[in-house]
Amino acid sequence: MVYRGPYRVRPEEKDRPSIEHPNDAIVRVTRAAICGSDLHLYHGLMPDTRVGMTFGHEFVGVVDEVGPSVRNLKAGDRVMVPFNIFCGTCYFCARGLYSNCHNVNPNATAVGGIYGYSHTCGGYDGGQAEYVRVPLADVGPSLIPDWMDEDDAVLLTDALATGYFGAQLGDISEGDVVVVFGAGPVGLYAAASAWLMGAGRVIVIDHLDYRLEKAATFAHAETINFTEYDDIVVHMKKITDHLGADVAIDAVGAEADGNLLQHVTAAKLKLQGGSPVALNWAIDSVRKGGTISVMGAYGPMFSAIKFGDAMNKGLTLRMNQCPVKRQWPRLFEHIRNGYLKPSDIVTHRIPLEHIAEGYHIFSAKLDGCIKPLIIPNAA
Ligand SMILES: [Zn+2]
Ligand SMILES: [Zn+2]
Repeated sequence: MVYRGPYRVRPEEKDRPSIEHPNDAIVRVTRAAICGSDLHLYHGLMPDTRVGMTFGHEFVGVVDEVGPSVRNLKAGDRVMVPFNIFCGTCYFCARGLYSNCHNVNPNATAVGGIYGYSHTCGGYDGGQAEYVRVPLADVGPSLIPDWMDEDDAVLLTDALATGYFGAQLGDISEGDVVVVFGAGPVGLYAAASAWLMGAGRVIVIDHLDYRLEKAATFAHAETINFTEYDDIVVHMKKITDHLGADVAIDAVGAEADGNLLQHVTAAKLKLQGGSPVALNWAIDSVRKGGTISVMGAYGPMFSAIKFGDAMNKGLTLRMNQCPVKRQWPRLFEHIRNGYLKPSDIVTHRIPLEHIAEGYHIFSAKLDGCIKPLIIPNAA
């Protein structure tokens, strides 16, 4: 796929990527996915998203070719590739902060490298394609375990790892009330993961009933449709002994629906792409001394966040792009033991040549869409 401008993507013939560095691999993609954060690119909200770029940071495939210094992979290997591109040796990688790698992005003071995620994130082409170049091939990819289905593996490259990480950053104690804002893939996975970390109660909030139904069946969560309440924060207080939740997870990010005033003051005045509705609801609905974990994607600058309230309540705010590969050993165990079945949230399987329709369905939330997979021709 190729980006042509806001709300315009299309399939296009590009040269097959080639080895540019001795530690590159070329991977033939067998499954990719569209991610909620791809919609920020699709909507034209991510700085320095260039026409001609190929998106896609969630993909798995088969190694087609390796550069001369690659030792850990060979042609024919089935690999899963984390969305983070990272060197494995810099100050940050040495501390497990793979998403903050200092060597893979000229803009590395903030974010590291991400496949298919604008030049702000390094300018790497992504995996919504037949072939993709995988730099630092000895560091990022892992072999897909023999017993694992590709449909599950592709969801480990971001969405499941990020949801699980979101629950981890919530620092959940036994019996905690955990509220998750957003019933998209990351929110669903965060809610399911919260139980594995000892939550006593898991509540998922969204405005789309079909997604809330999935939160009930997939993540066994209590669900609330915020459009049914005048003030979701007041309702949250009512159902938590008027204290608030112990932990809130923001799995929405910048493009939240739901609070007209915030939209006017932030998004409509073009101060930034989107408004921090979910983050402010999280700040308001967590108890004093509670923890907020931010997994939603925001632009580089954001205003109108209730920061003073967060300070006065003594909240702990934790956030980062997920260091995907760090999550894999534990998630492999959970999947193998049957605690998590990531592909249960897949709703659509879209051939690569119909990518434009896939983006439209996902963006407009049509046809009960929760997680669309992309299937290249050669897969
Ligand atoms: Zn993603
Ligand atoms: Zn690094």
